[in-house]
Amino acid sequence: MTLHIPFDNSYGRLPARFYARLAPTPVADPSLIALNAPLARDLGLDPDALAAPEGVAALAGNTVPDGADPLAQVYAGHQFGGFSPQLGDGRAILLGEVLDSNGLRRDLQLKGSGPTPYSRMGDGRAWMGPVLREYILSEAMHALGIPTTRALAAVSTGETVVRGAALPGAVLTRIAASHVRVGTFQYFAARNDTEAIEKLAQYVIDRHYPEARDAAGLLDAVINRQARLVAQWMAVGFIHGVMNTDNTQIAGETIDYGPCAFMDAYHPNRVYSSIDQQGRYAYGRQPEIAVWNLAQFATCLLPLMGPDREAAIERATEAVHRFADLHGDAWLTLFRAKIGLASAEDGDADLIGRLLSAMAIQKCDFTNTFRALSGEAAADAFPERDFFESWAPDWQARLARDGAGWPEQRALMERTNPAVIPRNHRVEQVISAAVEGDYAPFSKLNEVLATPFDLADPAYAAPPAPEEEVRQTFCGT
Ligand code: AMP
Ligand code: MG
Repeated sequence: MTLHIPFDNSYGRLPARFYARLAPTPVADPSLIALNAPLARDLGLDPDALAAPEGVAALAGNTVPDGADPLAQVYAGHQFGGFSPQLGDGRAILLGEVLDSNGLRRDLQLKGSGPTPYSRMGDGRAWMGPVLREYILSEAMHALGIPTTRALAAVSTGETVVRGAALPGAVLTRIAASHVRVGTFQYFAARNDTEAIEKLAQYVIDRHYPEARDAAGLLDAVINRQARLVAQWMAVGFIHGVMNTDNTQIAGETIDYGPCAFMDAYHPNRVYSSIDQQGRYAYGRQPEIAVWNLAQFATCLLPLMGPDREAAIERATEAVHRFADLHGDAWLTLFRAKIGLASAEDGDADLIGRLLSAMAIQKCDFTNTFRALSGEAAADAFPERDFFESWAPDWQARLARDGAGWPEQRALMERTNPAVIPRNHRVEQVISAAVEGDYAPFSKLNEVLATPFDLADPAYAAPPAPEEEVRQTFCGT
């Protein structure tokens, strides 16, 4: 059972100013918390070898496996609208890349693996809370069918990390289509390094968007994927919480599970993040924030879009403006499916809008209300039944015009509306248990979330009791 990782690295062939080459910093006493065996196999890795001492040492950063090319990537980014010209992997190391079972290139990155030249004032470490949170949420997102980075493993370090209190440290192995962000482009754009922007654009075209012929095509493709991604978040009540440009991944995966949350009670202005005082990244603002982030990306690409700057600006502006329609179409298709409709009619947005307004006013649970619509007692989902009595006949008339028939419509709803989501209070509970050394609730929660459209255990679908409700989430870095 020797550990063999078939690395096939490409990022390290980019110019030296794209990264700092360094190995992870070893930890005192690594021990495996969780290993994602199906994902390991998909990556062509042997789960048993990863779980053996040699594998755990590699996942903790105590040894560098053969063929790895460890490096910290540099990037910049707009954080809450303010530009930081120098960020980068301050607590993460890219070990290298492998080709998965579909031939797709995937990054293997250790997060919480020690300081790098980009750590600024940070210690380069992570405590167990955010590591387990990211593990749970990213894997739940994947099970929901939404593009996301994945969690291959979580390892405890045997060291403590000080975040106000002394807390147990951990390292996450994150898998991503790549870790190139809007902020990676911004880093070079801020330095007027057009040659680097060109190299980076070519790199992401080759790796993610081979159909794109040039920078304008790349911009279109990235906008397309972001529009769809954000619509998918909206459809499951996900609030990213830190939609900074350094957390906007070019390949279109959900990345950086910091203070994110799945909403319990629906409200478009819902915010969980403790650092988002202004509600910049509230649930309902996510599409417009994505546009803002994509406009930053477009700006970086301008020097590659031809010698006529005015024409380039016009082309880029058009592309960014297309987001609204792309997102709107994706959103409407998803929300139609949420109420059982596979066909399209002009009044659908209004029908869905009336439902959402009532849900907001009545503080309905986002997940359970949609799920209830396909059940026996849909009216009970609304504290004020008057609403349902006036809305349901219109909905039923629309379902009749859709024509697919109730069994098919119900099946569509049941595979679109999850029964279980990673509820904040559950996530907090499993983290508290893990800190005490009990990982069983963490494993159980992951197991339930792996099949989110089946209601295996109704307890996991329950919204928080008032005393369990989590009102704020924290970056916890
Ligand atoms: P985030 O808020 O997680 O997107 O991180 C923003 C920036 O802060 C990134 O450059 C991170 O690498 C860096 N950072 C966050 N936490 C730490 C830490 N504990 N040590 C070093 N750098 C960190
Ligand atoms: Mg980040």
